[in-house]
Amino acid sequence: MIVSEAVQRVGAGSVVKTWVSNNRILTGGLIGIAAVGAALLTLGPSGSGASPGTQLTVAVPPAAAQRVYGAAGRPIIVIDAGHGGRDPGATAVSGEVSEKNLTLAFAQALRDTLVERGRVRVALTRDDDRYLTLDQRAAVARALGASLFVSLHTDSAPNPLARGASIYSLSDVASDAEAARFAAHENRGASVAERNGSVDAILADLAMRSEMSASADFASRLVRKSAGRFELRPEPHRFAGFHVLRRASTPAVLFEAGYISNVEDEALLRSPVHRGKIVLALAQAIEADVAARSRR
Ligand code: ZN
Repeated sequence: MIVSEAVQRVGAGSVVKTWVSNNRILTGGLIGIAAVGAALLTLGPSGSGASPGTQLTVAVPPAAAQRVYGAAGRPIIVIDAGHGGRDPGATAVSGEVSEKNLTLAFAQALRDTLVERGRVRVALTRDDDRYLTLDQRAAVARALGASLFVSLHTDSAPNPLARGASIYSLSDVASDAEAARFAAHENRGASVAERNGSVDAILADLAMRSEMSASADFASRLVRKSAGRFELRPEPHRFAGFHVLRRASTPAVLFEAGYISNVEDEALLRSPVHRGKIVLALAQAIEADVAARSRR
């Protein structure tokens, strides 16, 4: 696809990127969240989850974000394949595959499974190998009014024996030192201003408190659905201050499917059959979570 990018400078140092892409022929159930080109979101004091002083303009990434799969009227789940483009994420112990490739394979399989099961609609933040900022990823969830945001990753650790999946939900205090380091690592894509002032203001927001609680509920549900079906780390539900989860303005979790720094985990994560087991647990947890919240 031909994509040209124009960058314009707006106000005090904030940069708005707009994309102009060639028209794509799209099939299936679609809703356009943007006219051809870019959708610009301006979150001001009236936006949910935003506080005075947190004005932020973010361009929604093109193409993938314009496409919503599934039957109209169902809640929308935004699936975020971590990393992409010039950000490969972690490299597998074999050196043969990067985190960004595995996260995309997981995201596409999860989308296909959810659409086939028919209970929710799905949008991806990216459907190819492209770089997106954390804010662009979160902006997709906000633009679509998503019911849930799930960011997919694979883990890496200096200890080659570390194995298993884990689920992180948002918190202002990390559950452990490793979770804090991991969040700092994943937050590198966020600007200093985004990490500091605005985030502190947002955390004071009551809406954010309820999203944090709903995110933790989903993470617990996912642990229950996963147990016995694939390997989880000890204490698989962890907490930390992830920028991409804060900005999603909806219940949001970051799922680490396993360690590509471990030989056995890498082989499993590269297997479509094993990925299918993880994807099914994710799909069932997502459907159960959305159904439970719609009953409240
Ligand atoms: Zn990652």
